[in-house]
Amino acid sequence: MSKAEFCTCGDLNCPNHPNNHDQGCTPCILKNIREKEVPTCLFNVADPERKREGYHFEDFARVVLEK
Ligand code: SF4
Repeated sequence: MSKAEFCTCGDLNCPNHPNNHDQGCTPCILKNIREKEVPTCLFNVADPERKREGYHFEDFARVVLEK
């Protein structure tokens, strides 16, 4: 499996997307840690209907609690 094969993030213009470098998830995770956010791949599992209001920890908690 390639580094980007399991990534479900559709933002191919993001410089952190694994399609755009050879560092796998590292840049994405680093950005999420710095901004206190949860990566898109996890949101896409918890929230396949894409009702999320944002990507912060609180937005993820809200999605999970509404299930
Ligand atoms: S952590 Fe980021 S780069 Fe890695 S699979 Fe998830 S969304 Fe894609």
